[in-house]
Amino acid sequence: MRAFAHAARRQDIAARGLARRASTMSAVHRLDSDSPVASMEELMSFCRSRAIILESSGVYGGAATTYDFGPVGAQLKKNIVDMWWRDFVENRDDVAPLDTGVILNPAVWRGSGHVEEFTDPLTQCETCKRRFRADKLLEEADGGAEHWDGKTLEEMGAALVALGVACPSCGAKAEAGLGTPRPFNLLFETSIGPVQDGSSTAFLRPETAQGALVQGPLVLSLTRARLPAGLAQVGKSFRNEIAVGQSLFRTREFEQAEIQVFCEPESSGDLLQQWVEDCNTWLVDRLGLTPSRIRRRVHEESELAHYALATTDIEFNYPFGWGELWGIANRGKYDLLRHEAASGQDMRFRDPRDGGRTAFHPFVVEPALGVGRLVLAVLSDCLVTEAAPAAAKGKKQAPGRLVLRVPDEIAPSRAAVLPIMNKDGMPERAAEIAAALRRMGAGGVQVDTSGSIGKRYRRQDEVGTPLCVTVDYTTLEDGTVTVRCRDTMRQARLSVADIEDAIGPRGLTRDKLQGVFATVVR
Ligand SMILES: [Zn+2]
Repeated sequence: MRAFAHAARRQDIAARGLARRASTMSAVHRLDSDSPVASMEELMSFCRSRAIILESSGVYGGAATTYDFGPVGAQLKKNIVDMWWRDFVENRDDVAPLDTGVILNPAVWRGSGHVEEFTDPLTQCETCKRRFRADKLLEEADGGAEHWDGKTLEEMGAALVALGVACPSCGAKAEAGLGTPRPFNLLFETSIGPVQDGSSTAFLRPETAQGALVQGPLVLSLTRARLPAGLAQVGKSFRNEIAVGQSLFRTREFEQAEIQVFCEPESSGDLLQQWVEDCNTWLVDRLGLTPSRIRRRVHEESELAHYALATTDIEFNYPFGWGELWGIANRGKYDLLRHEAASGQDMRFRDPRDGGRTAFHPFVVEPALGVGRLVLAVLSDCLVTEAAPAAAKGKKQAPGRLVLRVPDEIAPSRAAVLPIMNKDGMPERAAEIAAALRRMGAGGVQVDTSGSIGKRYRRQDEVGTPLCVTVDYTTLEDGTVTVRCRDTMRQARLSVADIEDAIGPRGLTRDKLQGVFATVVR
């Protein structure tokens, strides 16, 4: 059961992954005085209060755990995806972009096996009529001792009784309440065209992968690709999950960033290891996630999805515990053989360099990343409370400072321009400076005029803005501004030209910032 999806991770599984390569160039340096946000409630309440992440259709009571991203969240998500795209697609010579449909020919999902087999074991309580995922209830009941997603429905039904599992909602015992699980298909159905009958039934894609798998051999031959060759895409997928939760971690509508890497069968094992390495390094060196919150977990034989020869998950320690962030699977030639059998078409890769005489079914190694999970990981790792310096004797201890320590490259705003007074031409001058910075290609430069300067600094710290540029009376006289760094809170008096120099087309870089600061601040 739950044959296709990666099984959700228990929180108590011991780390069994390979030793993580020590990072030498972490993108963000957190301070000893930083403490990360402690709980999901705290994190989501902060995100709601700044309109970073909002419950979808909130005025109508929400929409089946779909979340919307407000201005800061939408830009943060886009910046993260853009960085992934640059690093894994544009800056590699073995990955090419692809963009396939959400609604494919329904035959794709029959061919892939999703129509028949993409199911979760659903058990219904006879007493209160609520429905649950049987494997989840069993996992909780036995503390993760067994891999229930590999068991039959009958085995799960018997175990519900044997382990004395009670209905989580009304407390009815399994004998009296929770029935033998039945398969529940996770595909979202829709219909094509004006007539709704069996022949018009179609499905929203439950994964982006199949679009790439059915087109892969053709695309790679036509583009004269040399294996290993990856096809990457980002897009929404849909699964009618029985159990959702932990905000962005498991939602019915979700965004995937996936690469299907087609390769020669013999090289697939090494290739999987290499991709695990690349993905792990990226999380630490580029995204700046704390290394101790990342681990690798190699799937045991009994929990492998039926299409996978091997899978390694990169897990993250979310506020609710360890969970999958990036799954790297070796799908072998499973999907291509299924589509070949179902479609009757030759799904082999034909090497264009010898006129297609070399033809074989490539293996597919698939690094699959959930974008929502990545955003959740970044927010929970980068949002920290920095303790204030210890108060002098007899003085009251100041509260800590909330800072979103994201790398500059993914910061929702690269800079904010703050006129110190809302008069005497300062707002106008601030607007001019902001416009100049935007013309430089800085992007996301805001002017913030409301509240005291201290409050505005704090507000920008909370949404990760690396630089605040303050306009005051001296600015009007000599064109210099005060620049304040988010992380160190150091300030420097600089000319506007210096700032423009520090904010390049790809945003402000830490090197440039430090260069500018080094010349002015000791
Ligand atoms: Zn019940």
